[in-house]
Amino acid sequence: MEIKFEDIWGQSSALSVLSQNVLRDRVASAYLFSGPRGTGKTKSAMVFAQALLCQSGAVRPCGTCRPCKMFGADNHPDFVDISPDGAMIKIEQMRGLMDSLSLKSYMGGRKVCVMHDAEAMNRTTANAFLKTLEEPPGDTALILVSSNHAGLLPTIISRCRVVRFVPMEPMELAPMLEERLGLGRDEALRAAMLAEGCPGNALGGGVESVRAVDDQAIGLMSRIMVMDTEEVVNFALEWKNRRADLPVLLERISEILRMGQGRILGLSSGTMPGAMETHGEIPGERIMECYDLLLEARPALRFNPNVQLFLEALIFNMQSVLEKGYPIGTPTY
Ligand SMILES: [Zn+2]
Repeated sequence: MEIKFEDIWGQSSALSVLSQNVLRDRVASAYLFSGPRGTGKTKSAMVFAQALLCQSGAVRPCGTCRPCKMFGADNHPDFVDISPDGAMIKIEQMRGLMDSLSLKSYMGGRKVCVMHDAEAMNRTTANAFLKTLEEPPGDTALILVSSNHAGLLPTIISRCRVVRFVPMEPMELAPMLEERLGLGRDEALRAAMLAEGCPGNALGGGVESVRAVDDQAIGLMSRIMVMDTEEVVNFALEWKNRRADLPVLLERISEILRMGQGRILGLSSGTMPGAMETHGEIPGERIMECYDLLLEARPALRFNPNVQLFLEALIFNMQSVLEKGYPIGTPTY
């Protein structure tokens, strides 16, 4: 697939460093592309590698010269792509890499290596690699890609030009998802939040997760008045390992409460999901109090390591507020 620097979202500062490096021929012998998963590091590493191998005089990568064609066909003899074999990058792989870097360039230009998940080098492999970093053979560019910078030896990091990839603001990512995935505005914003601003996460199944979380929020709120202890505990248990999705769940619940309140107070109509239908008889001020309870609970989530207990306490309190107008005792979150 043909990728260009322009196709990578939200990384203008990283990409401008890289294209300037190519343009001015100030290419370092080693780079470390560092940042969370889903920010575009791998794509960028591949475009950068192609740009370094491209023999066009103008914009690189041009996509049309012979080296670009070979790169696109996954068939460039001076390009080495290395990923963990199983959990680790093994010493045999490292020896293979060092051998191929020691050979003369086939195309008369640079040799380029992209190493994916570079933190998967163990100490032996990393020490072998360090020698290559210290004395890179000929005209070589090594591009390390890592989502876990801290897992790399400091001696390796210090020999690389570090290029940082950062998550986007969800507000900035949302319109791009709206266009690319044909989502509605709210859905796109939720997908951007759930992906924590990392386009790769949102494009790789994030939208399905948002829809699944939506369904769960609606399911919870349509049953909240009739849920017994066991059902609450089971719901919370299901969320035990889903901390990352929790902000979206809470956001969705508060939306349902806002809509429910508006409807009961006669402020809005027609937009309410089935979720609050059973709440017709609940006084508006209780729904408002429930909404406040949720707002107050949210910051506590950051300091509470136990998602399950947090959710249990929250749901029991919401039930109590909706039913009686006050929470059960002191919230434990
Ligand atoms: Zn080219």
